[in-house]
Formats: sequence, structure tokens, C-alpha cells
Amino acid sequence: MKTKKSLLILFLFVASNSYAQVQFGDWFEKKSLRVDFALSGNSEYQQAALQQMREEPVWGGPVKNLIDTFYYGGYYVNLYDKAGKQLIYSRGFNTLFEEWRSTEQAKNETQSWTNSISVPFPKKETVLEITGRDRSDMQFYTLMTLDIDPSSIFIDRGKLKENAVTQIRYKGEPASKVDLVFIAEGYTAEEEKKFEADAGKFAESLFNTPPFDTRRDDFNVWAVALASEESGTDVSGKGVFKNTALNAGYYTFGVSRYLTTPDMKSIRDAVWNVPCDAIFILVNTDMYGGGGMYNFYAMGTSDNARTPVVFVHEFGHSFAGLADEYFSSEVAYDEAFYNLEKEPWEPNITTLIDFGSKWKNLLPANTPIPTPLNDTCKDKPGVYEGGGYLPKGIYRPMDHCMMRDFAPFCPVCSRAVLRMINFLTDKSY
Ligand SMILES: [Zn+2]
Repeated sequence: MKTKKSLLILFLFVASNSYAQVQFGDWFEKKSLRVDFALSGNSEYQQAALQQMREEPVWGGPVKNLIDTFYYGGYYVNLYDKAGKQLIYSRGFNTLFEEWRSTEQAKNETQSWTNSISVPFPKKETVLEITGRDRSDMQFYTLMTLDIDPSSIFIDRGKLKENAVTQIRYKGEPASKVDLVFIAEGYTAEEEKKFEADAGKFAESLFNTPPFDTRRDDFNVWAVALASEESGTDVSGKGVFKNTALNAGYYTFGVSRYLTTPDMKSIRDAVWNVPCDAIFILVNTDMYGGGGMYNFYAMGTSDNARTPVVFVHEFGHSFAGLADEYFSSEVAYDEAFYNLEKEPWEPNITTLIDFGSKWKNLLPANTPIPTPLNDTCKDKPGVYEGGGYLPKGIYRPMDHCMMRDFAPFCPVCSRAVLRMINFLTDKSY
């Protein structure tokens, strides 16, 4: 691992010096290179291996903001020039596999999961790197590097299934908009109209929620009516199994309300021809639950009365990298989910190790740190103990927030959401 540190230093050097000079047209075509890769390992280690590369016909991501300086997530994809010197594209993301590594099961089993990322399609030979964050020091280390020849015969350039794609709203050129894509899960072909109506309903609930309400025109919304053989979803803890397009289910890591799918390949296959900055998978059931991982996907259910807020909460995770601010609920992670000796990467929690990098500049003057939950402080931004599944050692910005108990987003979460909208719409962030 020692040699990897020099790469990190190189990365930081490159990142701080030259990314402003990257011109999209010099390096990329407005298409995507999709890279599917396996992450395998357990609680102790992980490794990455290539599964397939595909050329896909659209690029909906930014064309100016090519370098992601949020440093959110457990992973980064970096593209360098052929010599490996100039960073020309980067983006952070998280995976469900990374969460699984925090579970009890990962102490006893080694597993391999498919993941997938898309980058703008390079015009010339480049080097692609996937890095993973080591929770012991929170730094990124190389998991995989690939020399990419854009003319290679090993890149699949074929079409995939053309699903029915509806434009729920179109506000302009995808590169300068957030392209939010709803994908149907557990809807049969006969339920296509229901799916489109459901997607429209939840898009509306998002745009009625501050701060998204101020930025409605920055979003395009698409709906991919992927048809499933059966209606509904798996509830494995109750012996219910449905044949559905994305293999979603409850009881993720044994938690009854935690609804996810590990099937990233099917998700990416569903959006191969749609501009895509953010994915929301809509599961056709009335049960309560959902899930969301940063720059991966969010998932929620169509017919539960609480879904409009669950949807916004899960989207907070997947879109803006927000952490859960609650600390008294059943989760599957052991206490190692956050390393209390280090500052977590999520913008809305802190261990106070490096609070200056978080929301110190949003605190009213003379706010005590940590902040007591008394009448003077409790409705203002502060540093309140409890968050990130732990009652002690992790702090949240407000007593109540969408990321704790479906209250309005706190000012810290709102700022993070707005910054991400700016990033994805090529504005300064
Ligand atoms: Zn918050």
C-alpha cells in the first residue's frame, strides 16, 4: 500500500493545478463509456476487476465541471491522459457493496458484486483509475487502472433493449440540466401508465420541497418503463419472491424496511440510451421502505402514504451525499460504520475532528460547540450530538431535518443539495 500514497499525492497535485484547463471537446465525445466492474472482498479488504466496457450513445453529465472536488463517497473514478499525468475527469460515488462491508456477514464471508460507472467517452487513449477509500485513514487508494483505447474491439458498441422512455419534463440540453431518471421496478407491461403517473407524482413532490422548489428549471425528468414479469417486489424475510426486472427486495442486510437491489448491471442496461445524472428506482408496492447511496441510485415505493417524504430523504443520500442524521433506529452496521477518529466525508455530520471543513461558517455567532439542545439554540444551526446511527461521538447540524425525521432540510443539507445542482448544471459550485 505504501506506493499508492505517491499516486494520491500526484492526484492532489494534479487536481489543484490543472483541472480548470480541461476542455471537454479536446478529450471527449458526447457519448458515454460505461465500465462495469466487480468489487469483491470482505470487511478487511476489497479489490476491483473489469467486467465489460460499453460505448453508449448519450452523455448527460457536466461538460465544464469535469473534475469533482466534493470528495464524497467511498470511491472515485479518475480519467487521466495517456501518460497518467493530467487528470481530465473525476467523479465520486458510493456502492451498496461498501455498506455491506460494514455488516456482520462481511466478517465471515467474501463476496463479489457488480458495479458500474459511466464517464464521458474519450477521444484518445486515456488511463482510467478506480480508487477506494480506506476507512482507517479516509484516503483513496488505487483499486484498478485500465489503459483505454477508444477504438478497441473490446468495447461493446451494441444496442440494448429499447424501453419506453417518457420525458416527464424537459427544460433543456442535458449537459446543463440535472437529468433525473425514474426506472420502473415490479411494474408489469400492463402497469406502464401507472408507472408514468407515479413518477410524475414523485417528481412533483421533490419540486415542492425546499430547496429543490427554487431550482425546478434545472431538472429534466425521464421515466424508463422497464417491464417486469410480476408485480411487486421481494420480501425475503416473509418468503415473498417476485420475478422483476431489477431484482429489488426488502431485508437488505437483514433489515426489514431496507429496500435495495445489488443488480447494477440491469440498472445501467435500463438507462443505456437516456441522459442520466441521478437514478430513482420506483418499486411498485405499498410497503414502507427505501434506500439510497451517493451517486449510485435511490429507491422507494409507489403506494405507501409516506413515500413522498421517503423519496426526498433517499434522494438526499443518492443525490447530495447526505448522511442519515438519526441515531436510534435499527441498522445492520456494526459500530465501525463511521470511524470516530476521522472526519466522515458526508457534508451533514461531523466527528469534530475537522469541523472547519463542514458547516462552521453557517453557525450563528457564539454558538457553543457542541451545542446544547436548550431553548436558545435548538431551532438554530448548531452542532448537536447524535447522528449517523450513533447517539455519541457524531454530531448533526439541527435537531430536526429531512435526514433525521422528514422535517424540512436543515440549512447544511440545503446548501449541499444546491451545490450539487450547481455542479451538475455546469455552474460554479
Ligand atoms: Zn440536515
